[in-house]
Amino acid sequence: MSEPKFTPGPWRINQAETLTRGLDITDGTYGDRIASVPLPKYTSDARQRADAALIAAAPALYRALKTVTAELKQMAQGEDCDHSVGICWCATFGAIENAESVLRDAVTSPHVARLNDQAT
Ligand SMILES: [Zn+2]
Repeated sequence: MSEPKFTPGPWRINQAETLTRGLDITDGTYGDRIASVPLPKYTSDARQRADAALIAAAPALYRALKTVTAELKQMAQGEDCDHSVGICWCATFGAIENAESVLRDAVTSPHVARLNDQAT
């Protein structure tokens, strides 16, 4: 699996520097802005604050999913279903496959590949 090229965590949520009302997601080490989440002018900003929290948690979520997936894969290694006696690993194998796909997409999406091409 490709190594992630995203800014390592932790990411932090701060009041936006360039938006009148909004939040910045920043690198926890250098304070560089990673993303800005504008808050709505006339409605509740709860959803945008929740979005900012989810974005800021992305590096930790990525690492946690990668760890859990590796542990689960090791646990299921060599196991096979025997549906005749009620042994079934289908859901586990499916969950591992889905998690690996999500992790792969997070670091190799076409958008990321296009940006990498532009940088070289
Ligand atoms: Zn099964």
